[in-house]
Amino acid sequence: MKSRTEAVIIGSTNLGEADKIVTFFSLNRGKLRGVAKNARKSFRRFGAGLEPFTHCRLNLYEREHQELLRVEQSEIVTQLFSIACDLERMATGSAILELVREISPEGEGHPEVFHLLVHVLRLLDAGGDPLFLRRIFEIRFLSLLGYQPKLDRCLSCGCEPERKMIFDGSKGGVFCPACMAAEGEPRVLISPGAVGFYYQALRMDLDKLTRLKPSAEILRELDQAFSHHTLHILGKRLKSVGFLQSVCPG
Ligand SMILES: [Zn+2]
Repeated sequence: MKSRTEAVIIGSTNLGEADKIVTFFSLNRGKLRGVAKNARKSFRRFGAGLEPFTHCRLNLYEREHQELLRVEQSEIVTQLFSIACDLERMATGSAILELVREISPEGEGHPEVFHLLVHVLRLLDAGGDPLFLRRIFEIRFLSLLGYQPKLDRCLSCGCEPERKMIFDGSKGGVFCPACMAAEGEPRVLISPGAVGFYYQALRMDLDKLTRLKPSAEILRELDQAFSHHTLHILGKRLKSVGFLQSVCPG
């Protein structure tokens, strides 16, 4: 069966002499993988259209009971060239793609995730602040997939965050200092300002998000909280995070 879909390339590896295995996030069927035969030789059919970060239209061919579908052709919709030209953008973009590859279930459609991914990659390509865009992406993406951490009340006593709260990755939420036992994991403190920014970022229209101007401290607090959060969702650290920290410390 032949089909055609809009997609973002989120990963690709070489296979044999000339083929590629491509992982992409499609508009209606979410994350999928396919083999592109002769991809490294046929410029006519693929051009640069299978490179990570490419927003494209793919022609697909699939047969029942076959694990990998076939990618027949790629036509570029938006080539996000400048992401790959700058180390900090590249590291941020790679972290975003890795999050999508690792957390999205295969073959499950999430059009809102697709639109979020295209939107954030375009802003990154256009020179938006990488730290800010990564936070925004993480906050919205995890929420769309049902992994939204709860930061507005203490998970134990229900008090509101009038002062710094303590984020617990294993519970996906915050505790007030009175409820949090002294031992356990390293503490990640979350200020009321970070909680406020988090809920604004979650609820605001996508095209208005760049109006938010969080401080570097707020972004840093949320970075730590979300590192713990994704560690507990995945049971491992994302590979790109070490690279990202070496490129953009802070
Ligand atoms: Zn409490």
